[in-house]
Amino acid sequence: MANKIPRTPVREQEPAVRATNFEEVCYGYNEQEARLEASRCLNCGKPRCVEACPVSLQIPRFISLINAGDLAGAAAAVAEDSSLPSVCGRVCPQENQCEGSCILGIKGEPVAIGKLERFIGDWGRNTGSLKVKCKPANGHKVAIVGSGPASLACAADLAKAGYGVKIFEALHKAGGVLEYGIPEFRLPKAGVVAPEIENVKKLGVEIETDVVVGRTVTIDSLMNEEGYEAVFIGSGAGLPRFMNIPGENLNGVVSANEFLTRANLMHAYDDSYDTPIYTGDRVAVVGGGNVAMDAVRTAKRLGAEATIIYRRGEAELPARREEVHHAKEEGIDFRMLTNPVEVIGDDKGWVKALRCVRMELGEPDESGRRSPVEVPGSEFDIECDVVIMALGTSPNPLIATTTDGLETNRRGCIVADENGATSRPGIFAGGDTVTGAATVILAMGAGRKAAAAIDAYIKSK
Ligand SMILES: Cc1cc2nc3c(=O)[nH]c(=O)nc-3n(C[C@H](O)[C@H](O)[C@H](O)COP(=O)(O)OP(=O)(O)OC[C@H]3O[C@@H](n4cnc5c(N)ncnc54)[C@H](O)[C@@H]3O)c2cc1C
Ligand code: SF4
Repeated sequence: MANKIPRTPVREQEPAVRATNFEEVCYGYNEQEARLEASRCLNCGKPRCVEACPVSLQIPRFISLINAGDLAGAAAAVAEDSSLPSVCGRVCPQENQCEGSCILGIKGEPVAIGKLERFIGDWGRNTGSLKVKCKPANGHKVAIVGSGPASLACAADLAKAGYGVKIFEALHKAGGVLEYGIPEFRLPKAGVVAPEIENVKKLGVEIETDVVVGRTVTIDSLMNEEGYEAVFIGSGAGLPRFMNIPGENLNGVVSANEFLTRANLMHAYDDSYDTPIYTGDRVAVVGGGNVAMDAVRTAKRLGAEATIIYRRGEAELPARREEVHHAKEEGIDFRMLTNPVEVIGDDKGWVKALRCVRMELGEPDESGRRSPVEVPGSEFDIECDVVIMALGTSPNPLIATTTDGLETNRRGCIVADENGATSRPGIFAGGDTVTGAATVILAMGAGRKAAAAIDAYIKSK
């Protein structure tokens, strides 16, 4: 299926300029561009794009409303299924989901569903036109641990159904990875994340920050002493992994989580804040996912020469294609088929190089990707001042160790069924804390399913 109208290009900041600032890379569509792009959609009877969306967004419906110029109708249609359209439109891996399944992609370019979702999310928020109705209060209380996308989606659905919902967040700001992990140049905090969280609060959801569940309160005290009939755990996977190679405890080796938290949550890139962040002149980032791309592009913007070190080939990079493309445009150096074996320090205990070996690709492993095999005798050094490890994360064990009878698996993830029910009645979980590090939309989908299951559980009591 082809379409005579080509995909509408999106305007972006010039690579050489944006590599020196933290402003958003992509400007998004204006109304004229959005309507032109919306006109490409075939409004399929059996839309493959919807089937591929983890929150079953009514894609052809909102796109045809944009095409017809009914922007308020389109914003309301999106709001039925998603409380974070401006976030998802910016960061979802659409190429593997809705756009990857769009019928127009078979012979040409898929509809730019993500950019249209972003446009309508921004339009709804900026015009303040969105009025979502909640059912009358039903007198039942639900507690939610963490304030990332899984929790926000769960909270929004429960509030719409009439529940009294309170979120307990360990950090001083709500949003989870949206706030502390994904950089400002991809996801503006004051302009996008904060207002979308405000919309969830407008549904009646209360958010208390600086509460570490498992320390300040426990899940059992919330249920037994504070009257919460059910709890949703959306505490994410914030515990960084390291390589366990010699030299990893030298000064200048940090996890991507720490580096990005300093830059984003603690505003280290902004001179009006005191947060220290060290890059030296050369930064090596180990890893090939979205987190690695965010860390290396942040290091570049802070003025360092920034390099990605990845043990597989370019085709195996797990990061979104758009992020790799943007990183390359910004001058990031990519060293593929390269694996660190040791961090080398100077006589003062600071990093001075990363010793690596060359790799080649062997047979596919259990992930289906060809596995990297070391080339014997291929050691070489890459000079650098800072090494950032972006190798994945796992859930913090605090909640599991302070909640009796909560089953976890060998990766430390909370065990939950497809509706979020855990081994403890009344306790539900979803998002990265169940799946391990995944995506915003999968976390939101899990939060929505758990909200429906919590509703059924409380009604059945
Ligand atoms: C740098 C980075 C870039 C990413 N880029 C993308 C991307 O482009 N696209 C995409 O789809 N996904 C991306 N992801 C993944 C995505 O952000 C996550 O999959 C998603 O945020 C998971 O949502 P969540 O709600 O499960 O957990 P989180 O977003 O991790 O939120 C969990 C929240 O729980 C809080 N918490 C933890 N323990 C406790 C406790 N004991 N008490 C109270 N609160 C607690 C945490 O402080 C946090 O605020 C990225 C992740 C990172 C780190
Ligand atoms: S599959 Fe593509 S063309 Fe069909 S409804 Fe979805 S976005 Fe439109």
